[in-house]
Amino acid sequence: MKHCIYDLTLPELTAWLVANGEKKSRASQIWGWLYRKRITEFNEMLDVNQACRELLAEHFVVQTLAEEVRQVSADGTIKFLFRLQDENLIETVLMNTKFGVSVCVTTQVGCNMGCSFCASGLLKKHRDLSSGEIVQQIIKAQAYLDEHDKVVTHVVIMGIGEPFDNFQNLIKFLEIIKDYKGLAIGATHITVSTCGLADKIYEFTDANQGVNLAISLHAPSNELRSRLMKVNHAYPLEELFKAINYYIEKTNRRRVTLEYILLKDVNDSPQHARELADLIGENEERLTVNLIPYNPVDEHSQYERCERETARAFYDILKKRGINCSIRLEQGADIDAACGQLRSKQIKE
Ligand code: SAH
Repeated sequence: MKHCIYDLTLPELTAWLVANGEKKSRASQIWGWLYRKRITEFNEMLDVNQACRELLAEHFVVQTLAEEVRQVSADGTIKFLFRLQDENLIETVLMNTKFGVSVCVTTQVGCNMGCSFCASGLLKKHRDLSSGEIVQQIIKAQAYLDEHDKVVTHVVIMGIGEPFDNFQNLIKFLEIIKDYKGLAIGATHITVSTCGLADKIYEFTDANQGVNLAISLHAPSNELRSRLMKVNHAYPLEELFKAINYYIEKTNRRRVTLEYILLKDVNDSPQHARELADLIGENEERLTVNLIPYNPVDEHSQYERCERETARAFYDILKKRGINCSIRLEQGADIDAACGQLRSKQIKE
């Protein structure tokens, strides 16, 4: 199978071209066609000579993602289901926010983390996505936005999969979408979310990508978190917070988001809120809590969304303790936009 051109960073493309007898300057020219003009065939690169276009076509394909389903929500959220070359299906969500347009990308086909409330893990991990397959989700979303004169301004790595379980490709993906000669998405507009693979948080910190980090916390104690999330057995809260503190220190006190899904009668009591505030402790300046309404998943019927008033009370307790906190606005609930929902439905059908 030919490689996808979107798998290459700009330095890699440059090196490949030079090794194949082309001028170095060709690389930025091709990069512009791919990332700025968003061509779908090498032949559309008008100012690149035919020999070079043929050379590229001999070794690479431009796109490997095919749009299978597109669902448009009443609030403008769009969910794409893409078919990969090997027939696997992945999801990408595009959301309008008050800051711009945000795209949520998938990093793996399925997921092995096994969080008890999540739809993605229902289908175990088949494989990692290549960096090019993650990049193309942005390209496809942008191609859609081109028709509406809009641009992707924000990227969240919160789709199906655990990004830190596909670490090398995640880093390459970040380098490609940040490249100022291409999509030029600002590092501070990119957020990577992890279920808490502590050893990878150290590696990620040292990789110095300048992007934001979010941690799926969902519980304030080891006892409860281990019940909800398998990963807590491997990396309990003490180790997770040691890694988070390392990140905060090394990144010059950059803020980290703690994500917390509110599950009715499971983790949503005032006592849980107080425990969460205790856990954050002295770090209230650097940790911010994002409370997320739970999206019910058929197969996990033991969990329900918490009441609005309960969420409000939880929020108030954190606020009173001086903790930065927000309740996530929900988008796309009418189109199965919670991670893994559309994909698992489509596979069932
Ligand atoms: N594996 C990474 C990123 C993908 S999940 C992580 O765990 O962070 C993205 C976020 O959606 C996580 O915070 C996850 O816990 C949350 N999530 C999973 N299932 C959900 C559901 N049914 N409703 C609301 N949020 C959910």
